[in-house]
Amino acid sequence: MENWYEASVSKTLEHFNANENTGLSEIEAVNRQTKYGRNEFDKQEKTSLIKDILHHLKDISTIILLLAALLSLCMAIKDGHGFIEPVVIVSIVILNLVLAITQERSAEKALEALTSLNSPDCLVLRDGVQKEMSTEELVPGDMILLQLGSIVPADARLIISTNLQVDESALTGESEPSEKNADLLLQGGVPLGDQLNMVFSGCHVTSGHGVAVVTGTGMHSEMGKIAGYLNNSQKIKTPLQRRLEKVAKSISMIAIIAALFLLLIGLLQGESFWTMITLAATLAVAAVPETLNLIVTLSLSQGVKNMVNKNALIRKISAVETLGNTSVICSDKTGTLTQNRMSIEKLWIPGEDPFGVNEEFGEREKELITRFALASNATVQMEEDGTMTIMGNPTEKAIMRLLHDKGLSKKSITEQYRLVGEIPFSSERKMMTIVLEDVAGGYLILTKGALDRLPLNAFDEGMEKAVSHVHELFAGEALRVLALGFRHVDELPSMDKPEEIERDLHLCGLIGLIDPARPEAAVAVERAKMAGIRTVMITGDHAVTASAIARNIGILGENEKVLTGQQLKDISDEELCRDIHHYSVYARVSPEDKIRIVEAWQENGEVVSMTGDGVNDTPALKAADVGISMGRTGTEVAKSASDMVLTDDNFATIIDAVSEGRNVYSNIRKTIYFLLVCNISEIVIMLVAQLKGWGIPVTPIMLLLVNVLGDGIPGLYLSRERSDPRLMDREPIRRNEGFLSGGLLSVIIQQTIACSAVVLVGYYIATFWVLPGNMGPSQAVGQSVAFLILGWTSILHLYTVRSRQSIFKRTLRDNPPVVYSTVAMIAIFSFLVAVPSVGKIFNLTAIGGYHWLVAAGLSLIPTIVAEIGKLIDNQTNIREYREYKHRVIRHKIRRDDSF
Ligand code: ADP
Ligand code: MG
Repeated sequence: MENWYEASVSKTLEHFNANENTGLSEIEAVNRQTKYGRNEFDKQEKTSLIKDILHHLKDISTIILLLAALLSLCMAIKDGHGFIEPVVIVSIVILNLVLAITQERSAEKALEALTSLNSPDCLVLRDGVQKEMSTEELVPGDMILLQLGSIVPADARLIISTNLQVDESALTGESEPSEKNADLLLQGGVPLGDQLNMVFSGCHVTSGHGVAVVTGTGMHSEMGKIAGYLNNSQKIKTPLQRRLEKVAKSISMIAIIAALFLLLIGLLQGESFWTMITLAATLAVAAVPETLNLIVTLSLSQGVKNMVNKNALIRKISAVETLGNTSVICSDKTGTLTQNRMSIEKLWIPGEDPFGVNEEFGEREKELITRFALASNATVQMEEDGTMTIMGNPTEKAIMRLLHDKGLSKKSITEQYRLVGEIPFSSERKMMTIVLEDVAGGYLILTKGALDRLPLNAFDEGMEKAVSHVHELFAGEALRVLALGFRHVDELPSMDKPEEIERDLHLCGLIGLIDPARPEAAVAVERAKMAGIRTVMITGDHAVTASAIARNIGILGENEKVLTGQQLKDISDEELCRDIHHYSVYARVSPEDKIRIVEAWQENGEVVSMTGDGVNDTPALKAADVGISMGRTGTEVAKSASDMVLTDDNFATIIDAVSEGRNVYSNIRKTIYFLLVCNISEIVIMLVAQLKGWGIPVTPIMLLLVNVLGDGIPGLYLSRERSDPRLMDREPIRRNEGFLSGGLLSVIIQQTIACSAVVLVGYYIATFWVLPGNMGPSQAVGQSVAFLILGWTSILHLYTVRSRQSIFKRTLRDNPPVVYSTVAMIAIFSFLVAVPSVGKIFNLTAIGGYHWLVAAGLSLIPTIVAEIGKLIDNQTNIREYREYKHRVIRHKIRRDDSF
């Protein structure tokens, strides 16, 4: 059977051997999974190793290198001076390939593992129990439960549907939600969009709820059929990676031009053509920062890993870098800044004084809380051991808890009332209604919600004042106020017309609920402020309640204002854009308003992170630079629209993630600093030496050795650098700020000059000066000395790059692999020069004791220059930063160690 829309519910159930009330058993589910497979789309085919190698061989630098190897092979045959050089070049090409491929693969694997944590959850009935589980575990025949905000986890035939509407635009392109009906029976040949008794994988529920039996999973679902076509999608690069690629391309161009130039002057200086062309080719390769891309990928995946450990799941890799640039965070209040653990503090009944919950309840108080309970959907389950579990939303849980604390229960009263209908709560309406049939005759309408939304009948003289006075009183103590209205009718109004039901209500009373702020919220808001990030609170709560909490956790400052949803409607986009800086709290807003807030901040050039959990938050989550959804309370729809999921729903986690993001950005800047200095120095050295007629300071093999061993391997570990917490003591980096901003360009130039100068000086001394001892002067000795200095300075440079502070302030324990790899490389380079029998392979010769001294001394100079530069830089920066901190928050601060 293929067309399940033609089958009746019972027939479908029968076919899948499924029980409507208990679902499948776990054992059966396991069996079916082995038969039908997991409910997932086929993974994109892994690129084979051969393909990977070919991909790298296509790389221009590898081609040039192989050409160079070929050239030196020709020369070896022609001149007969051995095959060592071509063999060494080819081995280095291979080493380079192995390094690139293994590192890239492990980085990709790590990212893949992390993104698979993101698989959505669904509600399933198994063994008679409702369970939340990963959608991948679903099998045909499973009973799934759909509710507002669910993503349909597989193709399924509906069994029950209540006002169920599903957005199928992802599948059919139809933007209007389709109204589902389990009871329909259709005849053959119905297109997808009209199969109203079916739901399809990947679509989402926009209203109502339902139960369905799974008919098709994985590649057998309608979405799976499309996924087959989409499978060969390209890997998407983050904006940063794309910009970096441009940087790398321009450096490659410079390298190639420099190489041609070198070839030209070499020939003019009378060097042999073959020598020069091999050299030029090698230079072109050496100067290309091949590892840049790799280190960026490694940094990003390291960042994602660190974020997961701090409860932030990254769904889109580009969020890592955008988070680091975040300058405004718009956060929900309830559950994110507060604990979402409500409890009732106070009650009020018209005509009486406010009443604390700890006082002895009279009849009227008992009646009020009972009626609130009647107007709630929360349910209470008594366990055998006498403990009680309440299920429902936090507001209603608080009501039920108080009810039971006072020795009352809903049961005793439900005998008198029978539930006939409900108008559900929504963030737009901010109220909900329950309609009950009274055994004694007639109907009781109970509406609970925000006082300002409740359609109350006209108050008696003076009453209105009393009500709003109590409301202000409660809200001023940061209590969330909930009002209850009721009306008795003889005839049941049509449930289709909410405005007919919810009118002329009599006010029963108010309750004030406390939802304590999360203890870490105030600290996190403070951290954000120090980091130049503005926190904005967005809530459906009343302005007074919201501002009381916002003031407590430091969001609402002295000159900042609260804007209500109503006021927001009345101001134009231009005004909002102009005044957006004044508003720190948005109260009584609907999710739809969020998008205006996001856009107004963005108009001002800010990078905005926005939180959300409901279906209606989706547009704002998408519009924000970083959309953040709630792992615990968020709907699947919101999660799938977001860039990052907070697994603990905690505001403080956002700040941790921002700090991680900044660390990644800083490490990438360090990488650029590191690679650019090393590569450009090489170009400068070769060119200057040729122009001066000093010959060739480092041979092709030496260049390659320095690049692969000196820069390549230790450089990889830069992605693991951890910056100190002061990274969060400066303003966010602007969206379009270049990589080389903030003084990076000037230190690159300074270090390039220093590094090239010492190598040239070392080479000159060893080639032309007579030093005591029996070595040299000769070009061979000069080359060995130049090689040592170039290698050593490159490695020492890594330490300079690690921190903006003195290298002595950075402990070695922070990043042991950097230490191990650099020590190893320094030793290897020394070994090659010290042991001529091995060094011979790489054109290296033995050098004298004084040469060693000269090399060591010169190698230290760039680091010393950098240290002096840092000293001066930090002096002025301390002043600047003090001023900055003075502006933001009176706090003494020093320069942090990141770039
Ligand atoms: P927030 O943005 O803080 O999460 P909500 O949208 O949850 O705010 O709630 C907004 C308002 O709706 C509350 O101030 C309260 O008056 C009302 N409200 C919240 N929960 C319920 C509920 N379960 N039943 C009735 N009214 C509610
Ligand atoms: Mg809410």
